[in-house]
Amino acid sequence: MNKKTEIDIKNIHCASCCITIEKILQENKGITNINVSLPLKKAFISYDDSIIDIDKIDRTIENAGYVVDKNSKSFLERKDDEVNELKKRFILIFTFSVPLITISMLEMFHIHFINKIIENNKLFYYFSQFILSFIVIYSGKQVIKSGVLSLINKHPNMDSLITIGIIFSQTFSIYSLINIYFNKTTPFYFETSAMILLFISLGKYIEALTQNKTFDFLEKLIKLKPIKANLVTNNEIIEKNIEEISIGDILFIKSGEIIPLDGLIIEGEASIDESKFTGEINYKDKKVNDKVIGGSLNIEGLLKIQVISTSNNSTLSKIINSIENILSNKPQIQKKVDKISAFFIPVIIFLGFITFIVWLMFGNDFNLALINSISVFVIACPCALGLATPLSLIAGVNVASKEGILINNSDVFELLSKLNSVIFDKTGTLTKGTFEITTIKSFGNYMVDELLFFAGSIETSSEHIIAKSIINYCNNKKIQLKQPKNIEIFIGKGIKGEVASSRISIGNNKFIKIDEKIKEETDIFLNEGKTVLFLEIDNKTEGYIVIEDKLRNSAINTINLLKQLNIGTTILTGDSCNSAKKIATELKTDSFFGEKLPEDKLTILKNIKNEGKIIAMVGDGVNDSIALAFSDVSISLSTGSDIAIGASDVVLTKIDLQNIYNLIILSKKVMKNIKFNIFWAFSYNILLIPFAMGLYYLIFNKPLNPMWAAIAMSLSSIFVVLNSLLLKTTKFKTKPMIDEHIKDVKITFNKGKIMKKEISVDGMSCKMCEKHLKKELEANNIKVESISFSEKKVIIDLNSEISDDFIKSVIDETDYKFISIKDI
Ligand code: ADP
Ligand code: MG
Repeated sequence: MNKKTEIDIKNIHCASCCITIEKILQENKGITNINVSLPLKKAFISYDDSIIDIDKIDRTIENAGYVVDKNSKSFLERKDDEVNELKKRFILIFTFSVPLITISMLEMFHIHFINKIIENNKLFYYFSQFILSFIVIYSGKQVIKSGVLSLINKHPNMDSLITIGIIFSQTFSIYSLINIYFNKTTPFYFETSAMILLFISLGKYIEALTQNKTFDFLEKLIKLKPIKANLVTNNEIIEKNIEEISIGDILFIKSGEIIPLDGLIIEGEASIDESKFTGEINYKDKKVNDKVIGGSLNIEGLLKIQVISTSNNSTLSKIINSIENILSNKPQIQKKVDKISAFFIPVIIFLGFITFIVWLMFGNDFNLALINSISVFVIACPCALGLATPLSLIAGVNVASKEGILINNSDVFELLSKLNSVIFDKTGTLTKGTFEITTIKSFGNYMVDELLFFAGSIETSSEHIIAKSIINYCNNKKIQLKQPKNIEIFIGKGIKGEVASSRISIGNNKFIKIDEKIKEETDIFLNEGKTVLFLEIDNKTEGYIVIEDKLRNSAINTINLLKQLNIGTTILTGDSCNSAKKIATELKTDSFFGEKLPEDKLTILKNIKNEGKIIAMVGDGVNDSIALAFSDVSISLSTGSDIAIGASDVVLTKIDLQNIYNLIILSKKVMKNIKFNIFWAFSYNILLIPFAMGLYYLIFNKPLNPMWAAIAMSLSSIFVVLNSLLLKTTKFKTKPMIDEHIKDVKITFNKGKIMKKEISVDGMSCKMCEKHLKKELEANNIKVESISFSEKKVIIDLNSEISDDFIKSVIDETDYKFISIKDI
């Protein structure tokens, strides 16, 4: 069976490490897909478990010189561990390098009496350097180990280059040490290996520190993930670990508390801050039946919520995972760079040896040949190539997520930067989707309220935003709806079913037959851009409902901005052609298509794509799924509190269409940043390698000190990290134009009368008593409408069946006395 696994690997440092692990694993049968991410230090592997098991995969990775990290710590904890480890290693190497470098420098100052002492104690002087250099190398043993193993495995990486440099200098220095015995003088390079390790380890440490900055937004999100929740059990509130909470549990949320999990409010009202998810700063007032997102903040108010997702499935976890997902899929541009990187290290090894041989043959100077070749090994910087793409991507995702744009696919930036055309769904995308009902017409057999009753009841089974508006209208008119039966949904047309033994259909004129006279009558509304829904009861058209939607505040601006970028705009809707035309004229889009069923929408997209265009489709995610799936970049609006992550490539959580424009601009910036990083990484290597090979010597008449090579190499990867960080300062230029979210609709069916009862209670003497008793009753799901200590009276609403005895027992448990209860 095909399975997926993620393996954390400790010592991945450069693009070649990733490619090496990918190659080695691919040599095994049963691995179907693999991607190793450099910044996450993680391998994402798909494999067939009947051919290969996890142990074998782990062993293959370890045999190649990499350390599988079984600690299953979170990504950020591993990042912190890595920084700490690099810091420790640097301090250790530093501690032993300083005396070594100091000793070896003594000679260079040419102070007579010191040189005299050295001359007399030559063996001791160099031997002490030998010992210190080995301690330094031992401190940096991970580098050497990985370098040697990857050389043995014939998949050299960055560590291999450093290792070759160190082996070169150590071997030759030991040779010189032996030469003292034979009274021959050859140069020593013990301090060279120490300096290479010192600067490389300092560089790695700084790089890891700055890299962590790129991830700080993820850290903030992870910090939002609460650990504990207050579980409500029979009258008691118990603090529990979040993992112990299951779907359906009731949680108590205090003021100022971060909401632990996604849930539905069952009691109370509160002001909620969802800005971490939506990028909008205004707080939302939420009440019973509204959804709350785990990780949002309860500013003020007490709530009881019913949990609707577990910790691993919560919106917050999905956002965090989606960011890891982006890094687990290599974008196209990185695949191209990887192809070149695969040749990089073997070419450098070849060049290093060529340098050595050529200088030995033509320069006739062993010292020069050795130093130049060591510098070539050390100066080459494959890490910059490996970091160029992922860090800019993460910075881009960071900027976008702060502004209420969630990105699920690593190719989004590249595709959007080359975008030719944006196709908009109309209803709920360009328009607000909060329909106003402007006309209700009955053809005579039914009262208007009856038509509404049938329409509203049947729409309770639809997810369409039209349905929400009709139900809302019925709610406001206090029309009690009934649960429909035998529902059939016709996407892009309407809905059919049974309500109170009548067969009901509601939808457009493609769905419901209408005669010429009705057509003429309703065409007037269509010409005004309104939508007409026909209602059929028991196979007879009995009336129609005219609804009108308003454009989103940001719609006109967005189309204008896209035009400035020379991007085509098209409206694609299932609604009438007239309505499409009206909106298209108002917005001045390039083209429009009306009365299109989902399959037609697909054909139109295919035609546009056949022209070789890159297209983005913007929809509200429900009825546009086929078109969204087909487009190059699918963008969906996340209306209400439902943040549908993973549904499309991009999810706009802030309902401001201008963010489509902002995202395109950001994508261009991200791609520019990536290209600049790649350009820098290549030109750095192309320029400095010849420099190390001998150009430096030819200009300055002395060889390039490998210490400078190590510094240059470290700086070059730090430069890439810093350039990516620059992206994080990007600000969106448009002024926010936000629409109200569509409120979740409360559906209540007419199950019978809502009961009100009046209870007489003795013993209350003040306002505090009222408060206390109310709290007790509500803790037992008895909703108190009013309470008065002076009248000794409590009025309650009973939506569910609660017996008088139960109410009596609840009151008797308090300090007050139950006297009587009656229906009112
Ligand atoms: P759009 O493409 O603009 O989002 P849809 O394809 O969802 O529109 O719907 C097209 C038309 O089908 C609507 O304008 C409406 O007339 C009809 N329709 C779809 N679903 C329903 C429904 N649940 N109730 C009534 N009419 C519906
Ligand atoms: Mg729509």
